[in-house]
Amino acid sequence: MDHTTVLKNLGFTDAELTGGTHVVTSPIDGAEVAKVHETTLADVPAIIAKSQAAFKAWRTLPAPRRGELVRLLGEELRTSKDALGALVTLEAGKITSEGLGEVQEMIDICDFAVGQSRQLYGLTIASERPGHKMSETWHPMGPCGVISAFNFPVAVWSWNTALALICGNPVIWKPSEKTPLTAMACAKILERAIARFGADAPDDLHQLLIGGADIGAALVESKDVPIVSATGSTRMGSIVGPKVAARWGRSILELGGNNAMIVAPSADLEMAVRGIVFSAVGTAGQRCTSLRRLIVHKSIKSELVEKLKAAYSSLSVGDPRNKNTLVGPLIDEDALSAMQNALENAIAEGGTVHGGEPVTQGVPAGAYAAPALVEMPSQSDTVKTETFVPILYVMEYDTLDEAIAMQNDVPQGLSSCIFTLNMREAETFLSATGSDCGIANVNIGPSGAEIGGAFGGEKETGGGRESGSDAWKGYMRRQTSTVNYSAKLPLAQGVSFDI
Ligand code: NAD
Repeated sequence: MDHTTVLKNLGFTDAELTGGTHVVTSPIDGAEVAKVHETTLADVPAIIAKSQAAFKAWRTLPAPRRGELVRLLGEELRTSKDALGALVTLEAGKITSEGLGEVQEMIDICDFAVGQSRQLYGLTIASERPGHKMSETWHPMGPCGVISAFNFPVAVWSWNTALALICGNPVIWKPSEKTPLTAMACAKILERAIARFGADAPDDLHQLLIGGADIGAALVESKDVPIVSATGSTRMGSIVGPKVAARWGRSILELGGNNAMIVAPSADLEMAVRGIVFSAVGTAGQRCTSLRRLIVHKSIKSELVEKLKAAYSSLSVGDPRNKNTLVGPLIDEDALSAMQNALENAIAEGGTVHGGEPVTQGVPAGAYAAPALVEMPSQSDTVKTETFVPILYVMEYDTLDEAIAMQNDVPQGLSSCIFTLNMREAETFLSATGSDCGIANVNIGPSGAEIGGAFGGEKETGGGRESGSDAWKGYMRRQTSTVNYSAKLPLAQGVSFDI
């Protein structure tokens, strides 16, 4: 589908796509797709004030009623799935199936959040004092700022927005400067849901900030935005986290990963190869959970590397809209340069590179590269750095303790996995002495999480959790209440204070 049709299917008007200063290009062929209007720094205070006003109304609606809006959003997303998926392909370069998969993830979190809207459970707590009752209740927080990365241009918004809305918070979204059109499309889809929801939804429940890091920074610095959920590089998080903390705000940080797979001698190698190839080259290695490090037992390393070389040689790199393409473009030329630099550094550190060359034949004019397999003598500085491209470093190990130590010996702590048929190895990997990551899997790759679980990681990945499990608590404030229904006023801990 060409650019014009994709945008027309989502109801974009000429006025939205032209006349602005922010140039949007497609990674598929580098072609200019639109010039959208940017938010200025001067606009931001009024946008935040409107969000605060929306909060005053939205927080008073019962949570299950708020859930109804998210149910309608899920319905609208179902109707728009093909059109939005095609825009994800156009603007982020994902192959068709992954573009659609990203929209499906949005639908899934809406379903999850609708159910959650009736389960914002507090606690009752046994009081030590007679005639007293203790309880814990969760309340809305206020405007939730969402800053998102280019590589999941719509799913990350939906994880945050579905939960923030049911929790009683308006949303202000600053998408990646590389993917403003998908954000504008999501805003339109939500607007349709809000129109069907009716007058209970206040104006400005959801607002967009289109622009770069400076616009994001204005959101980060405002005391009137109590929650900032920021997804992107560790470099970005290292600026955003301290700024939010300095004004006593709450941040939810979802930052870089450097995800590993341990392949043990007992592993089902055919299955491991499938898991490795999808995790390492899917989305052209541009997932935060992409597999970047393979830690293989020395007894099976050459066999596995040969199988991987064969699998890599059959991968089709090209236009992500073609049915047979498995590896689409990198986001831009900078990513291609970063890939070539990392490969040069790996060679200087003793690595042997298979593949990794830029692809220019039979592809449109974007930044395409053959995925690279790099055999490394050890876990060097280059291996410990997240380069957001399809490079898989392969290293060998002898004992499981050594493999786990290598898996954990990087600054990031997002996702990890082990392929083994040995129960002791699997359980050790998942135990307190095993993987130090927020996600640890057995016999599946590190990428492709479902929305039911809490998503996020430790160390330089930032510590935030989004999506399923009890991640909703990140969007609410907790209140502990003690009610005295007796005629006496006993003090806790037996303290006496007679007046
Ligand atoms: P990026 O850090 O360049 O940009 C992410 C967002 O942060 C953009 O919207 C950008 O404008 C904004 N930003 C940058 N500096 C800012 C500042 N000082 N103040 C406020 N906002 C600022 O990341 P990217 O290149 O778009 O995405 C790739 C990175 O994102 C990778 O490191 C990847 O691992 C990470 N990522 C992490 C997750 C996760 O859930 N852990 C998910 C997706 C991507």
